[in-house]
Amino acid sequence: MADTIKCPRCSANVVFDVSKQKITCAFCGTEFAPEELMKEINEEKLFEHAKAEEPTANKLEWEKQQFACNSCGATVFADVNTSTTFCMFCGSPAIIAERFTGEFEPDYIIPFKIDKDTATTKFLKWCKGGLMTPFNFVSPKNIAKMKGLYVPFWLFDVDAKLDMVGTGKKVLVTNSGNETTTITDVYNVTRKMNACWNNMPFDGIDRIDDDLMAAVQPYNYDDLVKFSPMYLPGFFSEKYDVSAEDLTNRVVYRSKEYAKKIFKEYTTEYNSSTISQDNSEYNVYDHDYALFPVWFLRYKYLGKTYEFVMNGQTGEVAGIPPQSIVKKIMASAVVLAIAAVIVKIIVSLMLGGFVG
Ligand SMILES: [Zn+2]
Ligand SMILES: [Zn+2]
Repeated sequence: MADTIKCPRCSANVVFDVSKQKITCAFCGTEFAPEELMKEINEEKLFEHAKAEEPTANKLEWEKQQFACNSCGATVFADVNTSTTFCMFCGSPAIIAERFTGEFEPDYIIPFKIDKDTATTKFLKWCKGGLMTPFNFVSPKNIAKMKGLYVPFWLFDVDAKLDMVGTGKKVLVTNSGNETTTITDVYNVTRKMNACWNNMPFDGIDRIDDDLMAAVQPYNYDDLVKFSPMYLPGFFSEKYDVSAEDLTNRVVYRSKEYAKKIFKEYTTEYNSSTISQDNSEYNVYDHDYALFPVWFLRYKYLGKTYEFVMNGQTGEVAGIPPQSIVKKIMASAVVLAIAAVIVKIIVSLMLGGFVG
């Protein structure tokens, strides 16, 4: 069964309203603070299907699973990682509770701060109103496919005993008369210090491009709050499919990159410095699980997939819009036409010069 969070006043569906930062009931108009509504709704009842012993999902061949909508009984199809979606039949937010409880229960969430209207405006600005994109890229039908999605993130805490050995160069240039003398002194440099990084973020989802997710970061942790399912209705969400353990090597690798920067920052008395040996110890000692908001649009054009990703908290945008072949040819035809006109003018000027 896919659950829906119901209004305690009238039993209609509620959604998280981004502009108000409240849970609102479209039917009776009641607004709730997320924590208030959580108190009012019996949590046991909300998650009753998560604890059902019988498997609630039937796995289908094409990696989709089906659930019954608890508003209308229609079948809700969901990808294996989807934890919240919508009923295609009645439009109710559908929450698959077993995918954010137990081992999948997030510790934190950054609620959406950017609503769909703002996301749409930013999307249009990003693709220059569709000037060079395929004709239906900015159609209302395509824009309607833009998803508000909570993406699973791991936040790592790393402790490091930095111990780096390298060289620093000091360059002295002196001028006397016509002669320039350059003296380079090379020093052995050792830097030892303790460092720690808290909440170093990595997305825990395989199918979204890592570079795209990296490009819309950072998220501002001022809005990081304790997880509540109350922020989910009205948005899609996914559970992680990359475990924290699977990411440990990448966490250490990124810590090493940060350590290199620290070495540079602490050797500024030299004109240049390089590390020859890193004897540092890195200890990934803790991690938390969080959901971060993105606006997401996937578009297929001439066999290629294009992705628009926008940070749902800060509005930072990443991705490359598809370029319409037709519009490109049209644009270059215009350029050619202008160029031809210019050539004509120059030629006639030259001719005019000869005649004159
Ligand atoms: Zn209501
Ligand atoms: Zn339904």
